[in-house]
Amino acid sequence: MKIAILPGDGIGPEIVAQAVKVLERLRRDGLKIEMEQAPIGGAGYDASGDPLPAKTLDVARRADAVLLGAVGGPKYDNLPRPSRPEQGLLRIRKELALFANLRPATVYPELAAASTLKPEVVAGLDILIVRELTGDIYFGQPRGIRANARGEQEGFDTMLYSEPEIRRIAHVGFQAARKRGKKLCSVDKANVLETSQLWRGVVTDVAKEYPDVALSHMYVDNAAMQLVRNPGQFDVMVTGNMFGDILSDEASMLTGSIGMLPSASLDANNKGLYEPIHGSAPDIAGKDLANPLATILSAAMMLRYSLREERAADRVEEAVKKALAQGFRTADISEAGARKVGTREMGDAVAAAL
Ligand code: NAD
Repeated sequence: MKIAILPGDGIGPEIVAQAVKVLERLRRDGLKIEMEQAPIGGAGYDASGDPLPAKTLDVARRADAVLLGAVGGPKYDNLPRPSRPEQGLLRIRKELALFANLRPATVYPELAAASTLKPEVVAGLDILIVRELTGDIYFGQPRGIRANARGEQEGFDTMLYSEPEIRRIAHVGFQAARKRGKKLCSVDKANVLETSQLWRGVVTDVAKEYPDVALSHMYVDNAAMQLVRNPGQFDVMVTGNMFGDILSDEASMLTGSIGMLPSASLDANNKGLYEPIHGSAPDIAGKDLANPLATILSAAMMLRYSLREERAADRVEEAVKKALAQGFRTADISEAGARKVGTREMGDAVAAAL
C-alpha cells in the first residue's frame, strides 16, 4: 500500500515525522507500506511556485491514502490568493473528490480536566462526526447578492442535496457506526427545511441495509444543546455540510486539546486524506514543542479507513493511550506532575509503547 506523505509548513514537518516514525515501527512488524513524500502549501510554493505542485498531486493520486501535516504561515500571507498555502489544501480535497469528513472527538481520561466542561460530563467521551463535505448551502446554486424589487440589496444561497449525495454520506455514517458503538444519530432540521425532509427520508431508507445499527434523528438545534448537556449519549453523528461544520467544531472543543484531534476526508472508494484538525502553529514551529498526537491518531484513522488494517489502527490508538497513561505530556496538555516532553520524545514514547 502506498502512502503519500505531505508534511506542509510550520509544525507540519515535525509532527508528520513522528507519525512516520510510528508507521516505520509498524512496517518493521510486517505492515506492507511504501511512503513517498512531497511538498504542499507554502513548501509547494517554495519548491515550484504552486501550493499544489503537479508532482505532489500525482503522488497523491497514485497513493492509497494521504497523510498531511498542516499548511500556512506568515511568510505566505501576502501572496495572491491562488498562490496561498490553503489553496493547495482546498484543491487537493477537490481533485481527490473527498466528500466525507470524519472528525472524532475523544476525551482521554487523563485529559478530562482540559475541557471547559465538567470532567464528569466529558469523561470517556468518544464521538465521531461524519460531515458531508461537497454539497449543501456552501455549493448550491443559485447564490448571490442582488437588488430586490424595492431596490434593496438582498443576499441568497441555495441549500441543496440530491438523493445520491445523501445516500453515499449515510452509508459512510452507518459503516463507521458498525466499526464502533453501532449507534448513528442523523442530524437535520426536518421540521423547517425541505432539504432536511428528503435527508431524513433517505437516511431512514439506507438504514434498512444496516439492521445492526440503531438509527435516531435529531434536530440540529437540539443536537448543539445535547453536545454540551450530555455528549456521552452520542456514538456516530451524520449530517450535512453546514450543520457538520458547526457541530464538529463544537464537539472538538469538548475535548479541550486541539493538539489531540485527527480527521479524515474520504472519497467514494475509502481513499482518504488524513490530517490533524489544527493548523501549522507558526508560533511554536521548529521548537520541538508541538503535540504530534493528532497526526499520529490521523495515521491510525488512515490505517482503519483506507488501508483496512484494523489491528494496526487499534495498536496505534492503544499506544497513544499508554503514552498518556505513563504521564508523557507535550506543553499544550501539560499539568503539574506530568512528564513534560517535546515533539520528538512524544513520538518516541508512542513508538516504544507499540
Ligand atoms: P493553529 O491551529 O495553527 O494554532 C492555534 C493555536 O493552537 C496556536 O497557539 C498553536 O500554537 C496551537 N497549536 C496548534 N496545533 C498545536 C499542536 N499540535 N501542539 C501544540 N499546540 C498547537 O491556528 P492558527 O494560529 O489560526 O493558524 C496558523 C496557520 O495555520 C495559518 O497560516 C492558518 O491559515 C493555518 N491553518 C491551517 C490549517 C490546515 O492546514 N488544515 C488549519 C487551520 C489553520
